[in-house]
Amino acid sequence: MIGKCLCEAVEYTIDGALGPVYNCHCSKCRRWHGAAFRTRASINKNQFTWIKGEANLSSYKSSDYVTKFFCKTCGSPLISTYDNKPDILGVPLGGIEGIEHVEVQAHIFVGSKASWYEIADLAPQYDAWPGSEEAVRETNQ
Ligand SMILES: [Zn+2]
Ligand SMILES: [Zn+2]
Repeated sequence: MIGKCLCEAVEYTIDGALGPVYNCHCSKCRRWHGAAFRTRASINKNQFTWIKGEANLSSYKSSDYVTKFFCKTCGSPLISTYDNKPDILGVPLGGIEGIEHVEVQAHIFVGSKASWYEIADLAPQYDAWPGSEEAVRETNQ
């Protein structure tokens, strides 16, 4: 899979399968993406490679543990890194090409959802982060 920013200065590849996919409705994701929610997956760091434009990245520390990387030319959101989970990256699915089908595992931070957006699928909804990916898997069984 290949991902790009809007101006195409930055490109990356992801090898292998994406981890669980969540729609995050928290206010930070809504602001960062300028959208109703962020559709994102976790991957292992070793699945991810910058193809070009790594020098064109800028970053913003959005909380004590989370750093958001974006293209400094066009502002596209690219990856998130987690100080408490250094082997994991968060990637937004909107910038990735070549995804045929994705099953959204859950809606998270629904307690912060935009009031004008109505969730219309049957994936489980959590007011905040349910605590672990295992907790989501159990609900889905
Ligand atoms: Zn760009
Ligand atoms: Zn979020």
